[in-house]
Amino acid sequence: MNRTSPPEAEVEPPPERGVAERPERRFTGIAVSPGVAIGAVFGAVEPPAIVNRARIHAADIAAETSRLEAAIAQSRKQLLKLRARLAVLPEDSQAEIAPLLDAYLAMIGPSRLVRGARRRIAEGLVSAETAVLDESEAIAEAIMAVAPPGDDDRAGRRRRADEVREIGRRLLRNLTRSPFRSFAALPAGAVLVAEFLRPADAALLDPARLAGVATEEGGADGHTAVMLRALGVPTVLGVAGLSEAARPGDIIVVDGTAGSVILHPTAATLAHARKLVTAFAREQQRLGKLRRLPAVTEDGEQVELQANFELPAELPLIAQAGAAGIGLLRSEFLFMNRETVPDEDAQYETYRSVVEAMAGDPVTIRVLDWGGEKDIEALQTANLVPVVTDPNPALGLRGLRMLLRQEDLFEDQLAAILRASAHGPVRVLLPMVTTVAEVREAREIYERVARRLRRRGERMAEKLPPLGIMIETPGAALSADALALESDFFAIGTNDLTMYTLAVDRADSEVSHLYDPLHPAVLRLVQFATEAALRLRMPVSVCGEMAANPRLTKLLLGLGLRSFSMNAAAIPRVKQAVRDAKIDDCARFARKVMEQSDPAAIQLLVMPPPPPAG
Ligand code: PEP
Ligand code: MG
Repeated sequence: MNRTSPPEAEVEPPPERGVAERPERRFTGIAVSPGVAIGAVFGAVEPPAIVNRARIHAADIAAETSRLEAAIAQSRKQLLKLRARLAVLPEDSQAEIAPLLDAYLAMIGPSRLVRGARRRIAEGLVSAETAVLDESEAIAEAIMAVAPPGDDDRAGRRRRADEVREIGRRLLRNLTRSPFRSFAALPAGAVLVAEFLRPADAALLDPARLAGVATEEGGADGHTAVMLRALGVPTVLGVAGLSEAARPGDIIVVDGTAGSVILHPTAATLAHARKLVTAFAREQQRLGKLRRLPAVTEDGEQVELQANFELPAELPLIAQAGAAGIGLLRSEFLFMNRETVPDEDAQYETYRSVVEAMAGDPVTIRVLDWGGEKDIEALQTANLVPVVTDPNPALGLRGLRMLLRQEDLFEDQLAAILRASAHGPVRVLLPMVTTVAEVREAREIYERVARRLRRRGERMAEKLPPLGIMIETPGAALSADALALESDFFAIGTNDLTMYTLAVDRADSEVSHLYDPLHPAVLRLVQFATEAALRLRMPVSVCGEMAANPRLTKLLLGLGLRSFSMNAAAIPRVKQAVRDAKIDDCARFARKVMEQSDPAAIQLLVMPPPPPAG
């Protein structure tokens, strides 16, 4: 999608902080969603944490104190992580930010704040939240009220008081696990700058108002990245030092294609950035013309290009992109940012509206994939899932594992999907499968729900919609031959498959250099699973981010794949790659790639560096 910059008037720096006033600063990060945005920084403001001001009994002192200690440890971890990331910044930026982080760290060490909060719990018999709130406010007020002799630096004291309040807020946020921030006040054309953005935050963003996003944390294929790409918002994640340097209203350029961020751009930089915005818009226009052309290789092989769907806001994009249906509807959005779990009827209405909007093109609905980084509050409030304290949530009760524990939740969702199947072709997809037994159990439940709906006289498709599975763990990929006998189709999720195969957290910018879907281990698993499906003539697609990269299309076609699902904005480029390909060439190329065991050699084959200019 073309993300144009905001109107010129909003792009120009306000005169009181003109371009010449603050030196230009350049940052680099991970290019996550292409396009260039120019706008004013919007630092989303924290909503006040909802503080439980309850008094406690003496018997609860130990429990409250240990909650406080856990919040301190968590805050320290966050600050140390930020501190570690400073190393990659230029020295002057480090010199600006490091003392502030050190001050925060000192305040949660053996400090007056921590001692005071402990004392308030033990002697004042108040909750940990109340203790932190009251103690940080008392310290901040004391700093402002009493100027030490000779100290007439009121601005400096105000800054110190604000620092105490800020660290208090961090502790409260960690104590209450309260929603992080509100995007309601996001002005049109703003660029969101934040320390980090959770997938649930990204789901709240309005792509029509937002010019771009840049955050300090996050990896290329985490769910936040997936969502921002889906929304077509130019985004750079993993930008060390940015959230401390940028102030609301600062002019900023986010280049989501190159992975660069420029704060306080000079007039020349702004002019260059505007040219990039125009060039990107022209390229999008060119690609738009592909919309009506078929996805057929040069030698006549038909390829299916479908869209992934994370949020209803994407439906117009999906229509514009000329997708042949939805290959992966991630249903998590239905459960996010709400206090209760949606019931069968509410879910049905949503699925039905998507199925109807696709007007006869198939919609593959994946049942809820809770777990890992997809932490959903409503499910916790309803006590359906445990509070995530697990040190390895990605290896825990995720996806289908959770649904098989919470049968009511699973049955409601299956019933809603089956009812939606009365309105157009639907397929049901199970996430995070590792064993044949899980699929069998899920199918039993699925068929039972279908029988119950029929008894109830509900309308649904005459033939039970296909039930397929995600191949996104090495376990599933390597037992694909057995799983193929239990499934109606495979959807290969290369995001998690890469993460679990290489033991690299897909959302962690610290290890993003190790996250490599072209690693031979990952490719061999994709090949094994694909061949298992093709032997049984069973449909198989790729719906992870690999499918969206046109430079990988030839390889995937060569491995035998003919169906891809991706963020809608990626469809035109992948279609172009399909139309430029010949199947024989692709097969030869894939054989050559699969003979390699060195990831670097594969990189060179698949993504050769551009020839030197001139
Ligand atoms: C995947 O893991 O590749 C996938 C498509 O699922 P998700 O990104 O939603 O985990
Ligand atoms: Mg996955």
